[in-house]
Amino acid sequence: MGSRRTVLRGGRLGGAAGAEVDRGGPLQPRRGVSYWCHAGHESRPQLASDVPAPDTWDCAVCGQPAGADKDEPPARVGMAGASHKTPYEFLMMRRTEAEGEKLLAEALDNLHATRTPSRRSR
Ligand SMILES: [Zn+2]
Repeated sequence: MGSRRTVLRGGRLGGAAGAEVDRGGPLQPRRGVSYWCHAGHESRPQLASDVPAPDTWDCAVCGQPAGADKDEPPARVGMAGASHKTPYEFLMMRRTEAEGEKLLAEALDNLHATRTPSRRSR
């Protein structure tokens, strides 16, 4: 088993890194701005301090517009019918519900129907 080697050599690497930082100039100061979408997701984009913060930001979670005011987020867009239902849609829901109950009743009848003969065969 082996001879020990010093793997890290400080000088060269350090010099190169220093040169790169110098070339880029001082780091731009950044600020985190919080935006909240209608669903309450928080997005914190890092903005350069010399760029004015936009009024809205696309939510990182759901893609909806998010605003800087948590209590009054911008309205949702592009999802027609997700939250607003027309009277017609309510009508359809009720009809489906009624039909569902009817189907349930029929299913229960069938259950009894299948139970009874199996009992009798005993
Ligand atoms: Zn969201």
